[in-house]
Amino acid sequence: MFNATRPQPGPDCSKDYRSKEVIDALREIFYGKCYLCEDETQNPEIDHFIPRETDPAKIYDWNNLYYICGRCNGVKRTATDILDCCNAVDVVSRAIKCIVPSIPDGDIIVDAQDDRETTKNTADLLNRCYNEKNTGNRGITRELLHERIFEEYSGFIKYRTALKSKKSLPRQKDDAKQRLLNMTQDSYPFSIFWKWHIWSDPYLSSVLDFRNL
Ligand SMILES: [Zn+2]
Repeated sequence: MFNATRPQPGPDCSKDYRSKEVIDALREIFYGKCYLCEDETQNPEIDHFIPRETDPAKIYDWNNLYYICGRCNGVKRTATDILDCCNAVDVVSRAIKCIVPSIPDGDIIVDAQDDRETTKNTADLLNRCYNEKNTGNRGITRELLHERIFEEYSGFIKYRTALKSKKSLPRQKDDAKQRLLNMTQDSYPFSIFWKWHIWSDPYLSSVLDFRNL
């Protein structure tokens, strides 16, 4: 999860919330990523943050529309009371810890960082988005999602190694540092992981200026 800024006013969605104009605007706001799992989705859908069943009046409300992947949309369904990534008050990447598992088929580690019900609900939802495999289809989408996260993680480890190695040239160390910081940008796929893999790492925390993450 990452924080996004929603421009006001948005496109007219009073009659059709699935128009090209609306989905294009959402794609830009969320950097083409699912707002929950941060995968660059090939199959974008529109989520009603407050479910349509809960509040039908918000079906055509611009502020209630979120860019989501098919997998997460199927998992979320009618979940409510979760952190709002478009509300600047909640720094969502600080509230939920996400760590890549040590083996590819292991569960992704998701951990709430405070005791608020909203934070716990969000951690529970993200845990299901990343790990649920209770149907054949979800088993496949989980495997593909984990492979994409692992592919990015292998790059992260490569840059960390280059930064720390005595064999690296100064320009190689500088390049590695820039690439690691780039991975923490909100626009980067799975950015919450790379922030936490830096915050949890005494070495990287000491050499990267993580105050800006
Ligand atoms: Zn997703």
